[in-house]
Amino acid sequence: MTGSEVPAVADVVVVGGGAIGAWAAYTLMRAGRQVVLLERDDTFGARASRGNAGLITTSSAMPIASPGVIRDGIRMAADPDSPFRFRPTLSAEFVRWFAGFRRGCRPEAVHRVTARSIELVRASRSILDALPAPLRDGFGYTTAGVTALYGSEDTLAAGVAKARHLGEDFGVPWRAVPIGEVAAPGRLRAVGAGGVHYPQDAHVDPERMVHELVAHAVNGGATALAGVEVRGLAERAAGISVHTSAGPIRATSVVVAAGAWAARVLGGSGRLVPMQPGQGYSIDLATPSHAGSGLGPPIRLADVRMMATPLSGRLRLTGKLDLRGLSAPPDVRRARRMLALAEPYLPGLGRLQPAREVWSGHRPLSPDGLPIIGPLPGRSGVIVAAGHGHLGVSLAPVTGSIVAALLGSGDLLVEVEDLRVGRFG
Ligand SMILES: Cc1cc2nc3c(=O)[nH]c(=O)nc-3n(C[C@H](O)[C@H](O)[C@H](O)COP(=O)(O)OP(=O)(O)OC[C@H]3O[C@@H](n4cnc5c(N)ncnc54)[C@H](O)[C@@H]3O)c2cc1C
Repeated sequence: MTGSEVPAVADVVVVGGGAIGAWAAYTLMRAGRQVVLLERDDTFGARASRGNAGLITTSSAMPIASPGVIRDGIRMAADPDSPFRFRPTLSAEFVRWFAGFRRGCRPEAVHRVTARSIELVRASRSILDALPAPLRDGFGYTTAGVTALYGSEDTLAAGVAKARHLGEDFGVPWRAVPIGEVAAPGRLRAVGAGGVHYPQDAHVDPERMVHELVAHAVNGGATALAGVEVRGLAERAAGISVHTSAGPIRATSVVVAAGAWAARVLGGSGRLVPMQPGQGYSIDLATPSHAGSGLGPPIRLADVRMMATPLSGRLRLTGKLDLRGLSAPPDVRRARRMLALAEPYLPGLGRLQPAREVWSGHRPLSPDGLPIIGPLPGRSGVIVAAGHGHLGVSLAPVTGSIVAALLGSGDLLVEVEDLRVGRFG
């Protein structure tokens, strides 16, 4: 619904209609709360939650911060096809974030964040598995796993070592698959030295997920308004005044689910949610329809750090992680080069017709790789749910349940102490 009129009074206002806001609104509605979901864009789920790879994944739950990643980022900076790009700035915001990111690169931090992320993804999977079938089928929830494809014997050996580590330390199931058994999407053939299949991963069409959840929330009594920007929050004696482009709303509680823009929505308190946008890209290619045969697993092109995700009638190629701030325009040439990089692994890919313009979106990256979820210190009634980084689709269901529990509607399924707002000092 696009609306120029907002209600004067609300129980819970959710700011941001991406995956996190949609799951929060849906879960709160199911818990019997009166929800008003506000999205600045003309449609819901048009930012990070639109063109991403759609994985619900424990096999890529390791944080981006890891030993050697900063050195690799600097080394690759000059290569236009590198998976990462870093443009460090001297802004106080970036320097603070980077200090936290560096701490996150220590092996013990990587281990802790991987374990927690996997626990959170598993909680999300339980929620997805328990959803009414028409709802989850409506957004293409597919439990076919994910297969990582490796181009050479060396990268395959490294991939198997990583799988063994995930299996032994975190209980993630996997099995090695000969190249002839790697099921390539869209009638393509996979080429390489071999693969590793992770059967417990799943995937969704992320844009449809947002739209379905918003529609179900509205059917259940929520109000969802697109084209309404939140311009500030002010504490009042009874609740919070939400200043919007369509007028003020007096709310009992506010959930800030504005992704990479969460700090901006919070104004002065934004320093408590340090984040950098990690820009990535996708290209959708038209594929023959998969009627009857199911979608099959997404393929991780591990050597070039890209994903090929089968969606209904399309194959989505995603990749790149560029730290260049929120205002840098998309580098469309760099995005289009992804086709040439993927071609050796999925020959014939380049002949598929584009199904949509190149898409770019910003992963809301917290310094330590865990989302920032909890009450805003010093401001009663404001809950932050942001900073989900490269795992926002995977963590959106459990985030919705945490938000509802923090607002007194439902039980906490997981520990939340290490996700709290203000943990970065
Ligand atoms: C290339 C790529 C691939 C990815 N692949 C995966 C994957 O396979 N699996 C996975 O789990 N994650 C993946 N991610 C990460 C995932 O996309 C994000 O973590 C997730 O979409 C973040 O959701 P969000 O709701 O926090 O943010 P967003 O989707 O960005 O939503 C925030 C919303 O808030 C709105 N907003 C901002 N300011 C205001 C305001 N003032 N008033 C009102 N509304 C406002 C914005 O318009 C936006 O719609 C990927 C990301 C990229 C870039």
